[in-house]
Amino acid sequence: MWRAIACAFLLLAAISAAQAQQQPADGRDPNAPAAPQAIGSAAPADQKKTAEAGPPSDPFVTKEHRFWDRENDWLFAGVGAGRALDYASTLNLRRRGIDEVFLTNSIVDNHPLFAGIEVAATAASVGVSYIFHRTGHHRLERWTSAIHAGVAVGGALRNYALKTPHPN
Ligand SMILES: [Zn+2]
Repeated sequence: MWRAIACAFLLLAAISAAQAQQQPADGRDPNAPAAPQAIGSAAPADQKKTAEAGPPSDPFVTKEHRFWDRENDWLFAGVGAGRALDYASTLNLRRRGIDEVFLTNSIVDNHPLFAGIEVAATAASVGVSYIFHRTGHHRLERWTSAIHAGVAVGGALRNYALKTPHPN
């Protein structure tokens, strides 16, 4: 569960980094003379060329689309299903007397609170996707949902796979 939140923070950090990378390009006048560079440094020109050639081939940039398109509908449904599986599998694990690793038992055993946390994790994931969408990172927008759903389902499978302790 907390891994998902850690994921969200990592994604937010990635957004910040992406925005930080965009700022110099946006603020720079392409016709302005180049800033003083170390002699022999060809890097800025190369970077500019890459940026100009970017949009058609850049794997992180895809076509504009509505945020609530069919693909995102399915991806968000996948995230929700993954969180629901996490919820069900964690309660199953608690019923079998195993301690939840990432949350305290008092939270997990408070079912409305735990369910609310799962819903919040889903909403946060959609929110991160939306930020990527608005900043033009449509591929990252999809990955956010795909990876989150995968991690949640993987965690649920792990929960179900944990052996019930049998006192001898
Ligand atoms: Zn998008």
